[in-house]
Amino acid sequence: MAKTLNLFQLIGQEQSREYWDALIKSGRFGHAHILSGHSGVGKDALAFTIAATLNCKSESVKPCGECQACRQILNLEHPALHLLFALPRKSASQTDPFSGLKESEMELINADLKKKIEWPYYHLQIDGANDIRIAAIRKLRKDIYLANDLGNTRVVIILRAHKMNVEAANALLKILEEPPQGTVFMLTTEFPDRLPDTIRSRCSMHHVPDLSWNLIQEDLIAKKGVDKIQAEICARMSMGDLAAAHTFAERDNTFWLDRIRATLNTLAREDFVSVHKQSLLLKDKALENDESRQQFLSLLILFFRDVAMDIKQGETALWVTQVQQMKKLFPECNSHAAIKEIERTKDALARKVHLQLALTALFFQLRKHLRGQS
Ligand SMILES: [Zn+2]
Repeated sequence: MAKTLNLFQLIGQEQSREYWDALIKSGRFGHAHILSGHSGVGKDALAFTIAATLNCKSESVKPCGECQACRQILNLEHPALHLLFALPRKSASQTDPFSGLKESEMELINADLKKKIEWPYYHLQIDGANDIRIAAIRKLRKDIYLANDLGNTRVVIILRAHKMNVEAANALLKILEEPPQGTVFMLTTEFPDRLPDTIRSRCSMHHVPDLSWNLIQEDLIAKKGVDKIQAEICARMSMGDLAAAHTFAERDNTFWLDRIRATLNTLAREDFVSVHKQSLLLKDKALENDESRQQFLSLLILFFRDVAMDIKQGETALWVTQVQQMKKLFPECNSHAAIKEIERTKDALARKVHLQLALTALFFQLRKHLRGQS
């Protein structure tokens, strides 16, 4: 099969692309689809690719990236493309989701959309945009039933579709029950379970698989110009979320490795329980704010995962020596219990429990798990 053009900068997901290509060519293409998968795996980019494939005017490879339809979809301005996303609640209008927004607010929304056009992995960050409301669906209804898109396939893409409130979801359901001819609905979401059963039963479900950290690492090296180690830290901390990895790559992560090593050294020492050592650890820069605490703990989880998997030279550039040292020093180390404990602490900190108590308890438990004591 001729390789189609990767118009929307999709990373990996070759199987998904081939699957959709074949489905579109088969002519047995349903009218409503849910693309689910973790944040940052490329669901929106895939939906845009499908919209371009369905509308591309090329006689051979679709999407060609050169015809007018492809170029318009690349700019998210094709007349047959209807893009829905959460907007701030500014007026009670039941038919116009944009009513009540000031010009300056519209400009911010357009600037945000522009970032999405430049890089489809970008998460829209519109202030106060918490849900997709009925006004958006009513406007959509008007647009798609009235539109005369000769020769085009209308594609409705609902970004983060789980943000639809109940009213909006019910209104969409009515459209899905009697869809206008030549219209395809693509709902992207990380939380398909939050969509009503009635909507899900009308759609075919497609899971977009996780990205491997190696792919993310390569992308960071190529696009962000970071070195291999920095790229690996960001890629692995992102847990498969390309957008998050790009954000991580914008700050300096080099000190994290040293912090993890220092923490492990402290944990490994027999006199760790001394109040002095503990307080030093708690004053660490790595724990000074919510974000860095979460980041630090995520990285600590990665370390214990590598211990559990007995990672070898060549599989990671981060801490092979430390992993092997740990295994030698603490052959009884219960990594799974350690990971569980760190995950528990991450949850607790997100709920704003007492910081010092939570971390002291964590370090105490980790110290035990290292030694295989339960
Ligand atoms: Zn084209």
